[in-house]
Amino acid sequence: MLISFSPEFDALFPSQAVPKQVADGFTWAEGPVYLPARDEVIFSDVRQNKTWRFRVSDESLHLLESPSHHQNGHCLDAAGRLVACSHGERALLVAIDWQDDKPIWDVLASHWEGKRLNSPNDVCLHPDGSLWFSDPTYGIDKPEEGYGGEMELEGRWVFRIGSGGELSVPIRDRFKPNGLAFASASELWLADTGDGRVYRYEVRGTEAKLTSQSFAVSEYEAETYPRGGKTDGLRLDEQGRIWSSAADGVRVLSPCGQHLLGIIALPEVCANLCFGGSEGNILFMTATNALWKIETNIRGMSFS
Ligand code: MG
Repeated sequence: MLISFSPEFDALFPSQAVPKQVADGFTWAEGPVYLPARDEVIFSDVRQNKTWRFRVSDESLHLLESPSHHQNGHCLDAAGRLVACSHGERALLVAIDWQDDKPIWDVLASHWEGKRLNSPNDVCLHPDGSLWFSDPTYGIDKPEEGYGGEMELEGRWVFRIGSGGELSVPIRDRFKPNGLAFASASELWLADTGDGRVYRYEVRGTEAKLTSQSFAVSEYEAETYPRGGKTDGLRLDEQGRIWSSAADGVRVLSPCGQHLLGIIALPEVCANLCFGGSEGNILFMTATNALWKIETNIRGMSFS
């Protein structure tokens, strides 16, 4: 069901468009990304320890990795390769090749100053080719989401890995950094699932500075639609609107996050989403037990 608060929201969808469940049976579906070369959506079931691939053309579901070592977020790097956050391996991975429909993984980052990362959660590509990823502790705190272990770092940070492999820590001032998306080369939106807010950072090179702008999806329509919950994953469309996961589905916000334009209502908590399909205009949503899709009139912002 679509709940519209604005003609701008109505214009984002073909008439009669409704969310459709295309696969189910998952426990905590997360981290979707569309791979154009394979016409597939890759996504995780973090708690079942599996990664799935969903072929868009015939809506068929195939197991990609089992065990997946509790993979979570995915994205494409500047060369179009699949990048995965691994809770279990406490590392950021890249698929350097494929063999028999299986990725061959290489480690991009696993340590900072000799200490193991916590559990990389979500990742996105900057226009300069660097990858930015969040590193909260869900994969070591929650037995169902990883293999446990000690926290070795002093915090839960956002890392940047440059195209030459150099690692740095642009963001150290969040509690539990999670989903993240660039609006431009100089503007990052970052969800903090510790306090339920999404924060805007100004980015310059390897540095990121917090601005005063932030929002929480739970603030909007709190009386009429109280199930806003927290943002986990988020994506932007090509016009900069923010498409945020929420407890009641996906909430579409104006580019600065000031106005709620509408809600794609789903029956379960949505953890993450991505645009995909051969035209780039299908929104895929990982919502607890199921994968959903809806056709849109817009494409996702992309730097790959
Ligand atoms: Mg996440």
